[in-house]
Amino acid sequence: MTRTRRGFLPSLTIKERPRAKRDSMARRKLVYEGKAKILYEGTEPGTLVQYFKDDATAFNAQKKGTINGVLNNRLSEFFMNGLQSIGIPTHFIKRLNMREQLIRQVEIVPLEVIVRNYAAGTMAKRLGMDEGTALPRPIVEFSYKDDSLGDPLVPEEYIIAFGWASQQDLDDIIALALRVNDFMSGIMYGVGIKLVDFKIEIGRVYEGEFMRLIVADEISPDSCRLWDIETGKKLDKDVFREDLGSLSDAYTEVAKRLGVMPSNSAPMPKPTLIN
Ligand code: 5GP
Repeated sequence: MTRTRRGFLPSLTIKERPRAKRDSMARRKLVYEGKAKILYEGTEPGTLVQYFKDDATAFNAQKKGTINGVLNNRLSEFFMNGLQSIGIPTHFIKRLNMREQLIRQVEIVPLEVIVRNYAAGTMAKRLGMDEGTALPRPIVEFSYKDDSLGDPLVPEEYIIAFGWASQQDLDDIIALALRVNDFMSGIMYGVGIKLVDFKIEIGRVYEGEFMRLIVADEISPDSCRLWDIETGKKLDKDVFREDLGSLSDAYTEVAKRLGVMPSNSAPMPKPTLIN
């Protein structure tokens, strides 16, 4: 049975749902489809609906698999709400359902902003460093967002010369990224997880004559490296990139430790055997 404002209706399958409702879902205007998410026109001007898919890709979409879009939606909500609660502006407005959230429409700065606390991934490879080496301080770097080029690392000089962002924007973006790092590192440390590195995207919003830079896209184990502090076990998308086991189990572990979806993700108790 389904509760409605007017009372109870028998549960309906998708096929049985009233035509008007099906049609309104179908008519929703697609704005953009990426590798892991879809953006639809939002309910109010200046908003979008961000839908989390189950598609996992790595190595510039050369490797394909499945991920848990429901968990990413919940985890991104958790992190974005946390950032907002300490005064870091984000695009997040509210979660709509299991796979969708309402967000502010932004003009995406065409950069991937990466913050690193320990050497790993492309940095470890590029510099021949051992994975896990602590860096002398958090390092912020930028990649140019272009899948066809494999999101190449770019120096600030390029960013300013090509007009992707101004020097002032970059100073603000670095300050924002370091605040996100402090918040995320603390939250993760509290649940026994080391935040090795992460990627965020930044959007511009215009308010009258002013432009503000805010955190956009998503923050989830898809865009972070998360290692268990005690065991070093990887709890992020590297599990998929490196075939280390079940990605869903890794993300569920992160969600459980953070207290996100505690009731949904609690394992079913095993039956008690009676002699
Ligand atoms: P690396 O440059 O070592 O491959 O990645 C650094 C960090 O940024 C990692 O946490 C990685 O997950 C994240 N990252 C880099 N590029 C992307 C990307 O295109 N998509 C996502 N979701 N994360 C990325």
